[in-house]
Amino acid sequence: MSPYPHLLEPLDLGFTTLRNRVVMGSMHTGLEDRASDLDRLATYYAERARGGAGLIVTGGFAPNLEGTLYPGGSALLTSRQARRHRRITDAVHREGGKIALQILHAGRYAYHPASVAPSRLKSPITPFTPRALSTRGVERTVRAYARCARLAREAGYDGVEIMASEGYLLNQFLAPRTNQRTDRYGGSPENRRRLPVEVVRAVREAAGEDFVVVYRLSMLDLVPDGQSWDEVVALAREVEAAGATIINTGIGWHEARVPTIVTSVPRGAFTRVTAKLRPEVSVPVVASNRITMPDLAEQTIADGSADLVSMARPFLADPDWVRKAEQDRADEINTCIACNQACLDHTFAKKTATCLVNPRAAHETVLVLAPTRRARSVAVVGAGPAGLAAATSLAERGHRVELFEAAEDIGGQFALAMRIPGKEEFAETIRYFRRRLELTGVKVHLGRRAEPADLTEFDEVVLATGVEPRIPDVPGIDHPKVVTYAAAVRGEAPVGRRVAVMGAGGIGVDVSEFLTHTASPLTVEQWMAEWGVGSPDASRGGLVDPQPEASPREVHLLQRKDTPIGKGLGRTTGWVHRAALKAKGVHHHVGVNYERVDDAGLHVTHGPDRADPQVLDVDTVVLCTGQESVNGLATTLEGLGVPVHVIGGAELAAELDAKRAIRQGTELAARL
Ligand code: NAP
Ligand code: SF4
Repeated sequence: MSPYPHLLEPLDLGFTTLRNRVVMGSMHTGLEDRASDLDRLATYYAERARGGAGLIVTGGFAPNLEGTLYPGGSALLTSRQARRHRRITDAVHREGGKIALQILHAGRYAYHPASVAPSRLKSPITPFTPRALSTRGVERTVRAYARCARLAREAGYDGVEIMASEGYLLNQFLAPRTNQRTDRYGGSPENRRRLPVEVVRAVREAAGEDFVVVYRLSMLDLVPDGQSWDEVVALAREVEAAGATIINTGIGWHEARVPTIVTSVPRGAFTRVTAKLRPEVSVPVVASNRITMPDLAEQTIADGSADLVSMARPFLADPDWVRKAEQDRADEINTCIACNQACLDHTFAKKTATCLVNPRAAHETVLVLAPTRRARSVAVVGAGPAGLAAATSLAERGHRVELFEAAEDIGGQFALAMRIPGKEEFAETIRYFRRRLELTGVKVHLGRRAEPADLTEFDEVVLATGVEPRIPDVPGIDHPKVVTYAAAVRGEAPVGRRVAVMGAGGIGVDVSEFLTHTASPLTVEQWMAEWGVGSPDASRGGLVDPQPEASPREVHLLQRKDTPIGKGLGRTTGWVHRAALKAKGVHHHVGVNYERVDDAGLHVTHGPDRADPQVLDVDTVVLCTGQESVNGLATTLEGLGVPVHVIGGAELAAELDAKRAIRQGTELAARL
């Protein structure tokens, strides 16, 4: 008996059957943009098809040039291009999978001067003011979608997904916020939905009856003047009547000031929205956003919230997600921790997407962990992300690996991160590695600080000894009210009601969130209240007044630079942290000099002239002033002639970064 009977049940669509209810959602990897990368893209999708995904949806392809996301961005415009896509569709079909091409017209989100939109209104997240499409321009756009769908069929795709959420072109036509037209494509709700409905009809006609047409419908815009719930329901019914096979859930525009997919969004936060729409239509509906593990996916279908679930990032993290669920091996799933650091942050920086916890994602052809022909004995010192990735990947290749960890448990910096409110997902990575260590037969020595004598007999030594908190040179830094972030987060040192956080990098911001929250993790209801997310029928766009819980502490967050706090945080996550700190009333101090700490508190001055002396009357000062590498063993071992490889924070503390650590550990394992 399958542990996930609803999730793994095939879905009969009449003309075709999906082998289960799991959709690999669309994720732009950057490999879509160049013809020379199509083989690499084909390998990436084929690996996910082999892993059991029921339906794969590609990254977005524009139906015409003005709809591309950026100059040179992916588009499907010609039969010649369609022929090249055969390499993708054939590779997926060989693995028994099905794949749909996503058609995405960026509208005013296009990052180029030729962008178009329903009305001449610039988006808050792009520098270009779009041209308003003429009525004939709208008609041409409908034909472009139809051509794209026909080409997708020619290319061997099993279907298309019409991307009509997240604030892209079709969504822009639907909302009064962006549609101020006076022709038949604007004004009344019927007129605003005319374009999306015509697109579905034209796509269905162009591609034929035996072709999957998924419509990604924005069920909750999360922007002022978004759609009302009545409009969403009417749209869903018309889209169904126009020929959609499946309706997928879209939540929140890219310009929304409510996070929808970052790690602090509780799992399954939006399945209730899909559940509300489901009874209104008779086609299958797909739930999405923050569904990461099989138990929640199963429950979402079993309780009638949806017919299918869509996961995009979880398939970057683990191509074998479905296979592992089928075989009751969910504890082996490499869970997406919703950090965005290697996927969306890469995409926005125009770098090929990959995954922090799985650096092979979209790099399957270049980062290969093949069985070794010469098994060696390897000692890995340090069981943080770098050491865990190295040890398990080396063992998987056939090396004999022993892992030494001074602490009583594995995890390193992740064991701290998982204690931060909204970062509970980091515990999943530790669970994944713990299981992988068992499966790969790594011999683990916990509570054992490796000495040179322990290591000299190994063929190779990998030093992943990580970092220790930097103690800045400030008078009074040894005052009892000063504690390190590690001691504060682990609860080893008491933290008073008034607190100064010294250092406002990623960890200073995390610690400020830790100090200003009482409940962790937040329930979906608490999280919705905190961010002002209402029931879809509460208001247009689903927005209500945020009601953040008051902070139990007064927190001052300080840095020496005079740039705004949080500037160096992730592109797609930094704004969420900044908004969270603001909601909790955290005081920002930039351009400060730390003068001393004493019984009165933390003494600071401002600017190069050390002006405006100020005493922050605080009970506790938490040090988040960066890290120093711990790699003392390296020199000793080199002196003894032992081959040593230093990776992760032990190599470079300045950029202490789990993405680099896991990638470095995996790449080293692939080389040895
Ligand atoms: P960081 O980002 O390098 O920040 C260190 C902070 O300490 C800075 O604010 C720095 O700014 C200050 N500082 C450095 N040397 C100092 C000194 N001698 N005296 C006083 N202040 C000093 O390091 P982190 O916060 O420890 O984070 C480490 C890494 O973890 C980051 O690079 C990031 O990759 C990752 N991380 C990210 C997140 C996230 O994105 N949310 C969360 C946690 C960790 P000033 O010099 O201006 O004072
Ligand atoms: Fe998930 Fe982070 Fe990997 Fe993106 S980089 S897929 S968010 S774990």
